[in-house]
Amino acid sequence: MRTLIVSDIHSNLAALEAVIRAAEADGPLDGAWCMGDVVGYGPRPVETVRLLRSLGAACVMGNHDAGTVGRISLADFNEDCRIADEWNASRLDDETREFLLALPETLESDGFTLVHGSPAAPLWDYLGFTSDAQEALDLAPTPDVLVGHSHFQFVNRDGAFEGGLRRNPVRPERTAERGDGRLIVNPGSVGQPRDGDPRAAYAVYDSGAGTLSLRSAAYDIRATQRAMEAADLPEWLIVRLGEGR
Ligand code: ZN
Repeated sequence: MRTLIVSDIHSNLAALEAVIRAAEADGPLDGAWCMGDVVGYGPRPVETVRLLRSLGAACVMGNHDAGTVGRISLADFNEDCRIADEWNASRLDDETREFLLALPETLESDGFTLVHGSPAAPLWDYLGFTSDAQEALDLAPTPDVLVGHSHFQFVNRDGAFEGGLRRNPVRPERTAERGDGRLIVNPGSVGQPRDGDPRAAYAVYDSGAGTLSLRSAAYDIRATQRAMEAADLPEWLIVRLGEGR
């Protein structure tokens, strides 16, 4: 079974389409896991949720999903972010809003805990930045953990970040094997990478081989930027897509 692992898509339909194409080029997908922030920031919230759901994805809630549907207040978000998320909220149809409102904060599947931030603070902890990997492992009910939120692609084994947590203009491809210690993996952000490489980041779990392959897919960044310009979304949010930060 091959499962697509995505996070922080942020209404970037072109990026999600490119990720699915790239993952399917290596073989058929049997399902998908998503660690939240499907919407917010970007220009295509409804279409992005529909495409994710068409994969039969199991998905947890991110802070931007929660903010966009009014589960938490946008007042504490920075101004660009609040403007973009209020715009996202204004575009939602009933079906999309209900899907987002019903997302759980954590899920367990195949020995993985899925959570946006970390088990200690599912919506808020930036694992590796504001919270500790060992604490996450102590609290997780499963051997391995999948997170999002920081928009950095990484592999952490037994509390140690393999290759560190550095910005890199070309994100390296790597493969993590399960079973040798406990893993925390962030597939990176599909729709707004911040680790230096503007390509869409994702991962694929192969349950037969017990491996997670961390990958990147080029997409039409200008198409997303043009859609954001047409929606009059904040300039910095448009610029950062081209810079991967
Ligand atoms: Zn995010």
